[in-house]
Amino acid sequence: MAEQKKQSVLFQHGTLSLLVPGLFAGTMTVGELLQHGNYGIGTVQDFNGELVVLDGHAYQVVESGAVNELSAEQSVPFATVHFDDPVAQIELTNLNKAEVERYLLEHYPFRNVFFAVKITGEFAHMHTRVVEEQQKPYPTLTEATKTQPKFNQDNIHGTLIGYYAPELFQGVAVSGYHVHFLSDDRKTIGGHILDYRLTKGQVAIQPFATLEQHFPLSNADFRNQNFNYDGMSQSINQAEK
Ligand SMILES: [Zn+2]
Repeated sequence: MAEQKKQSVLFQHGTLSLLVPGLFAGTMTVGELLQHGNYGIGTVQDFNGELVVLDGHAYQVVESGAVNELSAEQSVPFATVHFDDPVAQIELTNLNKAEVERYLLEHYPFRNVFFAVKITGEFAHMHTRVVEEQQKPYPTLTEATKTQPKFNQDNIHGTLIGYYAPELFQGVAVSGYHVHFLSDDRKTIGGHILDYRLTKGQVAIQPFATLEQHFPLSNADFRNQNFNYDGMSQSINQAEK
């Protein structure tokens, strides 16, 4: 049998669920993560900001709003990446976040698989938030996200990158859409997207035949964690949607 094309594999290190009890330690280096994909999203060691992977570079948007490029030695507790190879690209104009997301589900037959969304273009408005760095002993996700700096920018060029996950995978990921942004200048605005209005952009969509779920096996806190699944879905939605 032919080896599966790497472009049809979505690689994820850690799960969204492991963030819920506060397992924020970095458990995979950025260098290793980038061997599994050149685009993606996630968070950084100590929950220190939002991860945006674009064109093989890993950027960290921190709580001040500043953007740093991560080095190969830094690490992540949770990240999802893939090799960019869209199956379809369309131009969309003058739509907000909910309208773009609905459009993609209505026009492509991918509601039961994971797919990547990448939008490059001009946004009339971008609204993001960024998680704040935490220290050991780490608080829960709900505690850590009680206060989150939010950012707004009008008329900004940049890249939206993220994923759609079927509802079945709530906990592995965030079900529905989870998207991050970084402006073209890599400094004006980035982070986890709350809302936007797209002026005009190229929208690329890439479905995955395989989800490769990698666990932080060498991390004792993860192995010993007694996960409480009551209320987990609610905690994820409160923090991530
Ligand atoms: Zn996010």
